[in-house]
Amino acid sequence: MYRTHSCSELRIADTGKTVTLAGWAGTIRDKGGLLWIDLRDRYGITQLVFDEAYTTPELFAIARSIGREFVLQATGEVIERTSKTTKIPTGEIEIKVSDLKILNAAKTPPFTIQDDTDGGDELRMKYRYLDLRRNAVQQNVIFRSNLGIESRKYLADKGFLEIETPFLIKSTPEGARDFVVPSRMNPGTFYALPQSPQTFKQILMVAGFDKYFQIVRCFRDEDLRADRQPEFTQIDCEMSFVHQEDILNTFEGLTRHLFHTMLGIDLPEFPRMTYDEAMRRFGSDKPDVRFEMDFNDLNALAKGKGFQVFDSAEAVLAINATGCAHYSRKQIDELTEWVKRPQIGAKGLVYVKYDTDGSVKSSVDKFYSPDDLKAWLDHCGAKPGDMLLVLSGEEEKTQKQLCELRLEMGSQLGLRDPKVFKPLWVVDFPLLEWDEDAQRFFAMHHPFTSPKMGDIPKMESNDQAVLKSMRADAYDLVLNGVEIGGGSIRIHDRDLQSRNFKLLGFTPEEAEAQFGFLLGAFEYGAPPHGGIAFGFDRLAAVMNGVNSIRDFIAFPNNNQGRDMMIDAPSPIDAAQLKELGLKL
Ligand code: ASP
Repeated sequence: MYRTHSCSELRIADTGKTVTLAGWAGTIRDKGGLLWIDLRDRYGITQLVFDEAYTTPELFAIARSIGREFVLQATGEVIERTSKTTKIPTGEIEIKVSDLKILNAAKTPPFTIQDDTDGGDELRMKYRYLDLRRNAVQQNVIFRSNLGIESRKYLADKGFLEIETPFLIKSTPEGARDFVVPSRMNPGTFYALPQSPQTFKQILMVAGFDKYFQIVRCFRDEDLRADRQPEFTQIDCEMSFVHQEDILNTFEGLTRHLFHTMLGIDLPEFPRMTYDEAMRRFGSDKPDVRFEMDFNDLNALAKGKGFQVFDSAEAVLAINATGCAHYSRKQIDELTEWVKRPQIGAKGLVYVKYDTDGSVKSSVDKFYSPDDLKAWLDHCGAKPGDMLLVLSGEEEKTQKQLCELRLEMGSQLGLRDPKVFKPLWVVDFPLLEWDEDAQRFFAMHHPFTSPKMGDIPKMESNDQAVLKSMRADAYDLVLNGVEIGGGSIRIHDRDLQSRNFKLLGFTPEEAEAQFGFLLGAFEYGAPPHGGIAFGFDRLAAVMNGVNSIRDFIAFPNNNQGRDMMIDAPSPIDAAQLKELGLKL
C-alpha cells in the first residue's frame, strides 16, 4: 500500500497511529535540529516533522536533501503538535517520521505552488502541470468535475440519454468559422469540427430518442476574448414533444439543482423577460439584473430646446446613478473618457446632478432651464443626491454604449456582488438579424429555430421591417449578465425549413447541399422538438463569481489560441502535408 491516509484526513483523535502518506513536498522549514515538511496531495496538507532528538542521522540527512515538489512517501506516528493551526484541517497534528522514501526528485519549480503564486500567466500555462498543483486551480477543476456529475445525475433522473455525436463532420458556412481537418483518404476534402452537435441532436429526435443530452466539446474558430476559447464545453440537450414552456421548466430545474447541490443555494423561480423589454430597459439581451438602473428615454423631454447633439440624435437615453451627485469633476471626466474609448465609442457624456440641497447642475445648463432638467430627473425617478448620465446617437449604438456604462456604474457602486445570483430567462428573440455589411438576414439563433406560429405568414413578406419584427420560440438563460444557455423550439417541417433557408439567402441547391440530410430526415416523421445548450465552462465560472472560463478548463489555450504547454498549433512536416494532399 502506498498510503494509508490522504494528506487531509488525520485529526487529533488519530494520535498514536502509525500511518503512511504520499505526496509532494511543499514548504520546508529547517531550524537546525528540527525540520518540517508540508506534505501535499489533492486532498490537503499534513506536516511531517524530523527532530534530531529522535530522528536517526541517516533519516535526517534524507530529509535535508529534499527540495520543493519532491514526491515522498512518509511513514510515522501521528503526534499532537505543539504549535497548532486552525488554517488547515490537519493543523492539530503532525507525523513523527520514522521512514521516508523519495519516490521522485524534482527540479526547483519556476514558480511557487501556492494560491498567490509568483508565476505570470505565460509561465503558468507552459508549466500547466505545476499550475494545476496549486490548490486554487485544483479546486476549480474539482468543482467542474462535480458540476458535470451533478448535471448527469439530474438529467439521467429525468430520463435523458447521453449519446455521443461525431467530431469529424461537414463544414457549413453558417455560424462561426469552422476548424477544418484534411481528409487523407479523400484528398482535397475536409472534415469540420462541430461548432455544436445541433443537427445531430435533431436527427436523434427524428430517430425517436426523445430526451438527449451530452456534455460535449464544441469548436469555433473565432477571435478570442477573455471568456472565449477555441474549444469549449456545452451541456447540450434536446427533447421531443415539448413546448417552450417544458424546456424552460426542465432546465430551470437543472440550474436550481446545480446551485443547490454545488453551492447550497436555493434559487427562487426565474423571472422571464422578453427580448424587447431587455433591450428597452437594459440595452442588452443578457441584462445583469442584480441591480436596477433601468434606461430612461429622454427623447420627448430633451429634444427641441436647441441642443443640436440631442436634436439630431435618434435616441437620447439616461440612467440614474443613485447617490452619485457628489461625483467630482475628475470622476466625471474619467467616466467621459471611459465612454469615449474605442471599445465603447460614445461621442460624449452628459450629466445632470441633483444635489442633496435640491439644486440641479448639468453639463448642458446652457440649453436647458432648471425646470427642464427637473423634468428629466422626475422622469428618471431621481432623488436628491442622484446623478443622471445621458448618452445619445443612433438607437442601437446608444443602447449598447449605455449598457456598458450601466454595468460600469453598477461595478463602481458595488452592485454586482459575485456571490449574489440573479438568473432570468430572456424569451421571444427575433428570428432574424439584418447584417448591414453582408446586406442579408442571418438567423439570430440558428437556421433551425422555429418562428412563432403567428409570425409564419410574415415569412412571405418582402418588407425588411416586417421580417425584422418576426419573433422566434428562442430563449436564453442569463445569469448575472452572462449568457449561460440558449436554445429554441425547432422547425420540424421540411417546407417551413426550406422557406427559412430561403429567407436566409440559401438557394434551394445550397440548402440541399449543406443540410439535405436534415431536410431529408424531416420527410420521415420528425417529431416536434426543441432544446438548449448550456455553456459548461461559463456556468462553472459564473457560479464561482469568476469572469474567465480559462480558470475552469484544465488545459486552456492562451489569447492567441495557443496551447503553451504542448506548443500547438505547430507546423507539420512536408511528408505529412503531401500525404494529406495539401502540398505536392
Ligand atoms: N446548438 C445551439 C448553440 O450551440 C444551442 C441550441 O439551440 O440548442 O448555441
